[in-house]
Amino acid sequence: MLACITGAAGFIGSHLCDRLLQDGWEVVGVDNLATGDRRNLRDAEASARFRFVEADVAQPWDAWGEQLEGAQRPQLVLHFASPASPVHYERLALETLAVNAAGTMHAVAFATRNAATLLYASTSESYGDALEHPQRETYWGHVNPVGMRSCYDESKRYGEAYVTTAVRKLGIDGRVARIFNTYGPRMDPADGRVIPNFCVAALRGRALTVYGDGSQTRSFCFVDDLVDGIVRFATRAGLGGRVINLGNPDEYTVRRLAEVTARLARVDLRIEARPLPADDPVRRRPDISLARELLGWEPWTTLETGLERTLDYFRSAASS
Ligand code: UDP
Repeated sequence: MLACITGAAGFIGSHLCDRLLQDGWEVVGVDNLATGDRRNLRDAEASARFRFVEADVAQPWDAWGEQLEGAQRPQLVLHFASPASPVHYERLALETLAVNAAGTMHAVAFATRNAATLLYASTSESYGDALEHPQRETYWGHVNPVGMRSCYDESKRYGEAYVTTAVRKLGIDGRVARIFNTYGPRMDPADGRVIPNFCVAALRGRALTVYGDGSQTRSFCFVDDLVDGIVRFATRAGLGGRVINLGNPDEYTVRRLAEVTARLARVDLRIEARPLPADDPVRRRPDISLARELLGWEPWTTLETGLERTLDYFRSAASS
């Protein structure tokens, strides 16, 4: 069985490659390395069943698309290519719009040609600064279409619209995973997100930068748990056209996250207050009833366990 993963060198993409290889798949990974890092693929590249194609999936796939097909057609296309942290997508705003619009159109065309299942990596940002809490899949969201985050939020919403319309119009087996905040080894220490920022600062004995008063909430899912949910969603029969939240419903304020990180890193908590970025959602927590029901899935890693592993990763990344 052959799976094609766009965004393979990214944080989640690279863990997905490893997991599918462990499960016996042949995997071809595509990435333009705009925010991904080839070093994330060290484990995957040690396997004879893995191939890497360096390409921008927002551009036409004609020149390299056939390299994605092995001796047989891919059964699975996992479209994970996109900048995903606010710092990255603000810097690469037009590229983010392109990969979720044109990139998704190309991924759908490729999946259609190969009669493959397509899973699109969407986001909790589809809900924007949510007025419903926790967020269920039926909620339509509350998004500023022209704000700083719109290049990400609105392009992911367009990607969702494209995939679900392709299900209706082309009859493809397309699925949309709305992925909530995820963390773990291989996060980019400089991507500006709260967990890498807090871990790196704590390990260097610096103050933790809390934006706003730290009362905003997020729900953090360890990457192994998330990848398990994605594999279940992508491989289970009969889920074409489904939109499913994947995330950990354990909700933390940013302030509480700072306290836990400092405790696990064994440093005294020192906080440096910074202004809250524009359009920063106030509360976020997934309702995962649908994932429980349809996938038999829920996260099992506690924040403490996951943060310990993430701190270990940043410790060893700093010394290598
Ligand atoms: N945040 C923070 N300090 C940081 C980085 C982020 O307080 O050094 C806050 C940020 O304002 C947001 C939350 O942590 O409320 C999560 O931010 P992140 O960039 O990780 O993800 P997202 O906003 O996309 O959920």
